[in-house]
Amino acid sequence: MGVKATMQTPFFKIKETDLQYDIALLKQALEDNWGNAIAGYSVKTNSLPWLLTYLKQEGFWAEVVSHTEYDLVRRLGYDDAKIIYNGPMKEKEIFKRILSAGGYLNMDSSEELDWIEELSRDDPDRQFEVGLRVNFDIASHCPEEELAEEEGSRFGYCYENGILEQAIRRVQSLPNVSVAGLHLHSSTRSRSVGVYGIIAGMAVRIAKEYQLSLSYVDLGGGYFGGRDDKPDYRDYFKEIGRVLREYFDPAITKIIAEPGISLISRAIVFETTVKDVKLIRNHKYLVTDGSRTNLNPLVTRHSYPHHIIYDEETYPLDKRRTEPSQWVCGFTCMEYDRLFEIQNDKELKPGDRIVYDAAGGYTICLNPLFINYFPAVWIERQDGGLFLARAAWGNDEYLQKNDWKQS
Ligand SMILES: *Cc1c(COP(=O)(O)O)cnc(C)c1O
Repeated sequence: MGVKATMQTPFFKIKETDLQYDIALLKQALEDNWGNAIAGYSVKTNSLPWLLTYLKQEGFWAEVVSHTEYDLVRRLGYDDAKIIYNGPMKEKEIFKRILSAGGYLNMDSSEELDWIEELSRDDPDRQFEVGLRVNFDIASHCPEEELAEEEGSRFGYCYENGILEQAIRRVQSLPNVSVAGLHLHSSTRSRSVGVYGIIAGMAVRIAKEYQLSLSYVDLGGGYFGGRDDKPDYRDYFKEIGRVLREYFDPAITKIIAEPGISLISRAIVFETTVKDVKLIRNHKYLVTDGSRTNLNPLVTRHSYPHHIIYDEETYPLDKRRTEPSQWVCGFTCMEYDRLFEIQNDKELKPGDRIVYDAAGGYTICLNPLFINYFPAVWIERQDGGLFLARAAWGNDEYLQKNDWKQS
């Protein structure tokens, strides 16, 4: 019995070779197009402890947006000086710790302006550097792009109504604090190269307009990755470098990238097994042990790239009929749990495997504890060896911190 026998579906698998490919692509693109750069990793995208530790060893900084994420990366050995603290809801204690340790912090809220004044007053002999998250009307620069939200972003300080300038002036009025960075993460559905040119152009415009001498420009995440039909880091950072050079000097100003999904999606698959084949009136349903809740909890996906591994020993391919329609469904009792239709193709049988490609970037963690809990996560090493990074959650995990004795 080899290790394969214990790999019960459903499970996610991270292929180290593919992960290495995208890590190398990012590092090379930053090196070739700017040089003076920090690669951060967006912890919210996938906070699997194995992955965070692996990326730390690869030299990545942790980009965190909550006290829970902060605590997690600290437990995994990240240093305060190598953390980028972002997000609309921060904790004052962590805010002070990061700034005191020389980590990066991008302010986003009204209360952080009060906190920085307090820190400046309480520690007058120290110099502090902060960044500000910029909110600008990206749609007015590129009306043809599909934005994440129609009415625009809700994060950061607004450029158009002058609130960004007020925030900059307030920080600059403190004797020992400087505006050292701008943070311009923007989510678009189209993830086009042109959008990053606009984002970089906005950094140039704001730095010029308010005469800022910046030690960094943080371009955030939101890139495509892991798809041969789409742009990759080489295209994005070429454009970013071209635009930023109009005003910034790589010897003085760093760029920060905070990729999430683009770094890991190529490397992750989700493997499921057909458990039952049902004929209901004139429809054929394949019931599998994976679910839409594992792959698409936010119901934003329109397609499920996949490949099929037929159990040829039990059901030889030449003995299988061609089926006009087979609907692949999940294990849940929800009617909506139907993934995709296989049209005019070989019939599937119990024991066949459906493997979803580029699946699980977000959903290894963004996975509801619904009916079943977190699936297992396996790592496929570069030498082919397998390693269990997260055992599937069961009721030992689910029952912890519950009290049902007083029912
Ligand atoms: C979500 C997020 C990222 C990563 O986004 P991806 O689309 O996963 O690359 C980076 N920075 C910030 C501030 C984010 O909120």
